[in-house]
Amino acid sequence: MKLAELGEFGLIERICRAVPNQAGLQLGIGDDCAATTVPAGELLLTTCDMLLEGVHFRRDWTDLAALGRKSVAVNVSDIAAMGGTVRHLYLGLGLPAELTVAELDDFMAGFLGAAADYGAVLAGGDTCASRSGLVISVTAEGTVAADHLVRRSGARPGDALFVSGTLGDSALALRELQAGRLPEPLLARRHHQPTARARLGQELARRRLATAMIDLSDGLLADLGHLLRASSCGAEIAAHLLPLSPPFSVTLETDPALLNLALSGGEDYELLFAVPPTAMADVAAAAAAAEVTVTRIGTLTAAAGGLLVHDRTGAPLPLTGRGFDHFAGRG
Ligand code: ADP
Ligand code: MG
Repeated sequence: MKLAELGEFGLIERICRAVPNQAGLQLGIGDDCAATTVPAGELLLTTCDMLLEGVHFRRDWTDLAALGRKSVAVNVSDIAAMGGTVRHLYLGLGLPAELTVAELDDFMAGFLGAAADYGAVLAGGDTCASRSGLVISVTAEGTVAADHLVRRSGARPGDALFVSGTLGDSALALRELQAGRLPEPLLARRHHQPTARARLGQELARRRLATAMIDLSDGLLADLGHLLRASSCGAEIAAHLLPLSPPFSVTLETDPALLNLALSGGEDYELLFAVPPTAMADVAAAAAAAEVTVTRIGTLTAAAGGLLVHDRTGAPLPLTGRGFDHFAGRG
């Protein structure tokens, strides 16, 4: 069935029917606004991310359920990076005429499945026709105890620098797709269905272990650069300590230049955070509670030191990649 047969209000009704419950909301989908509450003493965190067909995804490379999951995860990742807990989601959709109702249902199944996994409720949105591809805009609201908020600023020279999970998998999958090859399954999953490190962000904040934190969407070096500028610090990181997945490591053996993807590739959705020396021992417990691996990759230094990446022998690596910038190189 084509979307046109449902019409705007039929479509909205179909989306609303798929929403399992709106517990925790004063007022959910169906009025002019949602009405929500924030627990006493907590701050409201709000973030918004767009996914545009042809810019962020291609419909011939991803299935719609995975895209629904990813559009939730990329927003939850930002809430996690502040130490918060996601609560409400708002979904803006620009739907091209050729999209089928079955495809929309797949997207919503992925979206609502991921929302439930992270403990979030779909509280509203907007639905329009699009003349240029599928447009997805998600706004997420979360909350965090005021004294647990973790910002990009706050790191100090001498703090240890940690990263969760593994780096470069998503970028390697994208490179394979762009070359017309099918990525290895783990790499493909990391690209199409990233997992936000929701629990880790909360554990680090609740235990007050991280002095600064950011999620990795534009590449390690670019996002580390944001953290360093906000904290007025430099950093030294060790290339041989970067956490790599088995399929990434295998490919790296045949192509050493791939290290650049681990340093600069986008869409890892891991957490990068600084920990003072006195709190180092507790990081392992927070990671275990969150059931993710974390790896120490370097140390914060004085701002004058800049950002240095060295290899196993201590020799500095020339930095080529800069991370992803939507507007770079367009004159
Ligand atoms: P209005 O015209 O007052 O902005 P709409 O007709 O766009 O209201 O939406 C009616 C209700 O349906 C609102 O509660 C809105 O939040 C909800 N809604 C519309 N589109 C979506 C969507 N894609 N996902 C979730 N809720 C939606
Ligand atoms: Mg209205």
